[in-house]
Amino acid sequence: MTDKPSHERIRTAPKVLLHDHLDGGLRPQTILELADETGYRGLPAADAAALGAWFAEAADSGSLERYLETFGHTVGVMQTAAALARVAAECAEDLAADGVVYAEVRFAPENHLEAGLSLEQVVEAVLDGFRAGERRAAEAGRPIRVGTLLTAMRHAARSSEIAELAVRYRDVGVVGFDIAGAEAGHPPTRHLAAFEYLQRENAHFTIHAGEAFGLPSIWQALQWCGADRLGHGVRIVDDIAVPEGAEGAGDGAKLGRLAAYVRDKRVPLEMCPSSNVQTGAAPSIAEHPIGLLRRLRFRVTVNTDNRLMSGTSLSREFAELVDAFGYGWDDIEWFTVNAMKSAFIPFDERLALINGVIKPGFARLKWAVGGAER
Ligand SMILES: [Zn+2]
Repeated sequence: MTDKPSHERIRTAPKVLLHDHLDGGLRPQTILELADETGYRGLPAADAAALGAWFAEAADSGSLERYLETFGHTVGVMQTAAALARVAAECAEDLAADGVVYAEVRFAPENHLEAGLSLEQVVEAVLDGFRAGERRAAEAGRPIRVGTLLTAMRHAARSSEIAELAVRYRDVGVVGFDIAGAEAGHPPTRHLAAFEYLQRENAHFTIHAGEAFGLPSIWQALQWCGADRLGHGVRIVDDIAVPEGAEGAGDGAKLGRLAAYVRDKRVPLEMCPSSNVQTGAAPSIAEHPIGLLRRLRFRVTVNTDNRLMSGTSLSREFAELVDAFGYGWDDIEWFTVNAMKSAFIPFDERLALINGVIKPGFARLKWAVGGAER
């Protein structure tokens, strides 16, 4: 297959997204309208195009302070049940329009209490929004299923409460738990009680680890906390030695004990190439560790993290990887099946999506490409 997958064609492929933040994916126009409706002041621009550009510029600035400021504005307009439901519905619609067939979207309920909502009201508004978005996407002929992950903030002290919330809502759309926030100085072991509770409840969770911080953070997330997946996990490459000149195939790469464990146990890595470049976790897409980790057949998945701040979509992330690493349809399908295998919904439902939607979708795309070449 010599065809190079184009951004447009990648949009039509059935894709799976495991790492996407609800407060990082709003439409600029929606931010403006919600600010008007809720009386939020302090937006840095008055029209959608300028606001979108401001978000991308602030996130690109290399200043963590400015990067975090962007979330101040999105979370600022997401303080009412109606606003949360609207943002969630539009998220499902936008992902479906990009060809995503299954997504796990995460958010931190504790960040949405400023206007007096309870944690339960926040969760219920978002779940209602996702269901509405799924209905509208299906009507538009782009069916999608959205699972919710509840995030606790690493620097805060509410992780046990949020973990209990995730278990309470697990039969109505919440599929897992996550912790996020600055890694340095906030080790995941501070939240051990929450993780041990989730394990006793047979619940699933992922941990943001190995993004800004190195191997100890990954090791703690897996071996102390028992994470099912790693958010980012890019620093796992610090435990892999590649001999000079062997870069092409990854042949002769020597895996340390932690890297070997991650690969042997098929621990899913939720990689977010553009976001990693913006935060400095990787110098460029071309130098992103995903190239090496894919060659070494780690359980790598491709994700968006914050679509608004990175001005991206899942299709765009794949298109960037195609440009940087020469990936073809087989590679994109491999990442997609990896992601679906790693989802937090039941095994039989994952299998049904792989065999009923993903494989036939990629087969049609590859057949169409082959047909064009004949
Ligand atoms: Zn993230």
